[in-house]
Amino acid sequence: MAQNTPMMKQYLEIKAQHQDAFLFFRLGDFYEMFFDDAVKAAQELEITLTGRGQGEDRIPMCGVPYHSAEQYMTRLIEKGYKIALCEQVEDPKHAKGVVKREVVKLLTPGTMMNGNIIKEKENNYLVALTVFEDDCYGLARTDLTTGECAVTLIIDDIEEVIQDIASSGAKELVVSSSIKEPLIKQIEKKCSVTLSYEEESELVKEYEHLVADLQSEKLITSFSRLLQYLIRTQKRSLGHLQQVTFYQNDSFMKMDTHTKRNLELTESLRDKKKAGSLLSIVDQTVTAMGGRLVKNWIERPLINKKTIEERLVLVTAFLDSYFEREELRDELRQVYDVERLAGRIAYGSVNARELVQLKRSLQKVPLLKSFIEKIAPQYVERWFKNEDQIEQLIDLLEQSLVDDPPISVTDGGMIRPGYHEELDSYRDASLNGKKWIAELEQREKLETGVKSLKVGFNKVFGYYIEVTRANLHLLPEGRYERKQTLSNAERFITPELKEKEALILNAEEKMESLEYDLFVIVREEAKQYLEHIQTLAHAISEIDVLAGFATVSEKRHYVRPLFSDDRKIEIVDGRHPVVETVIEKGQYVANDVHMHTGREMLLITGPNMAGKSTYMRQLALLAVMAQIGCYVPATVAKLPIFDQVFTRIGAADDLASGQSTFMVEMLETRYALTKATEKSLILLDEIGRGTSTYDGMALAQAIIEYIHDTVRAKTLFSTHYHELTQLDETLVDLKNVHVSAVEENGSVVFLHKVVDGQADRSYGIYVAELAELPTEVTKRAEELLTEFEQSTPTAVTISSSVTEDVKPQQLSLFFEEHEPTATVKESTVHTTIAKQEEKVIKKLIKKDVLNMTPIEALQFINELQRSLKE
Ligand code: ADP
Ligand code: MG
Repeated sequence: MAQNTPMMKQYLEIKAQHQDAFLFFRLGDFYEMFFDDAVKAAQELEITLTGRGQGEDRIPMCGVPYHSAEQYMTRLIEKGYKIALCEQVEDPKHAKGVVKREVVKLLTPGTMMNGNIIKEKENNYLVALTVFEDDCYGLARTDLTTGECAVTLIIDDIEEVIQDIASSGAKELVVSSSIKEPLIKQIEKKCSVTLSYEEESELVKEYEHLVADLQSEKLITSFSRLLQYLIRTQKRSLGHLQQVTFYQNDSFMKMDTHTKRNLELTESLRDKKKAGSLLSIVDQTVTAMGGRLVKNWIERPLINKKTIEERLVLVTAFLDSYFEREELRDELRQVYDVERLAGRIAYGSVNARELVQLKRSLQKVPLLKSFIEKIAPQYVERWFKNEDQIEQLIDLLEQSLVDDPPISVTDGGMIRPGYHEELDSYRDASLNGKKWIAELEQREKLETGVKSLKVGFNKVFGYYIEVTRANLHLLPEGRYERKQTLSNAERFITPELKEKEALILNAEEKMESLEYDLFVIVREEAKQYLEHIQTLAHAISEIDVLAGFATVSEKRHYVRPLFSDDRKIEIVDGRHPVVETVIEKGQYVANDVHMHTGREMLLITGPNMAGKSTYMRQLALLAVMAQIGCYVPATVAKLPIFDQVFTRIGAADDLASGQSTFMVEMLETRYALTKATEKSLILLDEIGRGTSTYDGMALAQAIIEYIHDTVRAKTLFSTHYHELTQLDETLVDLKNVHVSAVEENGSVVFLHKVVDGQADRSYGIYVAELAELPTEVTKRAEELLTEFEQSTPTAVTISSSVTEDVKPQQLSLFFEEHEPTATVKESTVHTTIAKQEEKVIKKLIKKDVLNMTPIEALQFINELQRSLKE
């Protein structure tokens, strides 16, 4: 029975320990999978499902050849699966009974070192979450390819925990199995991570030095869980892990995932690609390391003025030295990803060719330094502090490795002549032998007179002398030994030839194995320099990002932002950094933003497609750019430093995401309203669209009032409810602005210019005309519009008085119950209903409900209902 063979027993035992992973079980030249693993893998990898055993005992099986297994494994990992790699750990020839097998490595999405999952310009983070008893959450993360490690603590804010995980882009999350189910559900809903479990969170002595900078036990525990998981899954050196740094989300501008998505910071909304994002504009880096850093900076703009200014000073310095900067960037282009090479050195997976790439990159250091000496002399110390060690490493690599070694580390050809005496002697032996053979060919040609005689080599017969059939008669009898007959030639050997051959092959074999040993020694020695390589990698990535900022700032005529201490915003001729690049050159209409006391909130009206959303996002993007230390697209830009940015888009605009839109819109808005401070920036783009007009307008107004009176954040609010523009009469810090449009020959032309005051009409009908709706429709619409406009007063006056004594929550509750009455004459209907409702609401609010008897209450309800029916 297939299931009961000793091998299957072994399989099941091992599989029991790796339930959550595909077990790749090595059988000869194949990795086999059985049972459910086989069924699932066959499906995911589109390979044939076979079986083992007969009849009822037949078990599903499928396999991949070991030499091409990597591509299959990568595919599974990319789909978020894990793999336990089980090898034969003894030579089958010497095995008694079943060959011993062990899982030698666990492959998981968060611990991959190569393959498609590793993007050149992105980090591949693995995150561990530890929940402490007092509602404190410890988050530790690492990128195994670079060795970067960081931890933070978040107190009692699950939303922030989720955002932290999501914004790291982590593909795998390590938790303890005791973690509460609802929390995991919530995380899984919002972040697409593979879950892994690790119960241990004791600090491993060997790695104590990594946590030396950490102040709290909780931080250490959080990191230790991550470390334990790495140790358990990787089963090899983790020598490249860097000192764990403590980060605090409070030291960065906070943006939740919605905001980042809406602002298209690192990917576009439409196709989730980098093109069309802010990143695609400001990332002018030329190294992979710089590419990763600039992405991290955009995800986390700074809030410390001093640090921001430090970056800006450097951008200015790079801007001021055009030639040095461009030459420097040319040099940087030739620098390999030394940060990840360091990771591969630690892992022992680096090959000789990569070490030579490392050497070439390191050799650039003196030149890079000389440029920085010219551009920003005060930074030379900080960026180039370990030259001596770098020098030593270059020497080591230069002396030991040839200039152009092969990728394979087992076929020789890597070690430089003169590096090792014994190796040189084998090399000489092999060379001499080959020389002797070459001479032999010449000699034999002369002596036999067979001009076409040649000496060749193949793996089966070794060296031979080949003579074509036509020339065979020229050979003296017995000169050579016959070895092989081909259709038109004979191959021969001589004892002497075989003697030399043995010498050559022996020397080559020794050479290859000695070369490998020497290479491993070099690789091990290189490990001592990991820290220095990493320090250099940091410097290079910073230089690369900042020089890139200078490049884009110059090319696109950005200006250095100034930071105001009085909360004022003064932007002259601001442009949307992305939109200005996608529309025709010179067509972008620059716009000012002025916000200060008296105009802390701007209510933006204007026709559809006028540029409201663009204007709003433009401000947020300028703030982000300024706070990552980049120049900004404007001629003057004075901004406060924002602690948080919130962007909310009315549900109707977000239909594509297919969520229950209005509820989501409200939930998101609640989050913004509760978290924002007066140092925040809020963009609300057509909030309230997702429900009926009356409802939506009331909500919009209540939200505006709440921000105006309570939150006091700088706010841009765009709306198509023109009625709301009257709010500037009652709210002292709110001003109307609108995006202008003009009519030309009966059609509308958008000027994209934002000016003070409200838009006079919504131009919807003109847009309809532009879209060539049948004239009957647009004509009729115009008639109706005139009719509606004559019916006064508008709903907003009513709801405005309602909200005098109603809190926004109460208001939204009330309106949620309200049945939307969508008819053609909507606004007239609303107006009359609204009058009754207003009275009812006023009465209701005044009533001291808690001091009423049930009978009184009933009577009161009856009375209200009657007045509504009037
Ligand atoms: P709205 O939100 O008012 O409907 P959008 O902000 O979505 O309008 O802008 C519509 C389109 O108008 C954009 O896709 C862009 O091509 C163009 N646009 C917006 N602002 C400008 C501007 N300042 N200059 C030139 N074109 C603009
Ligand atoms: Mg819009």
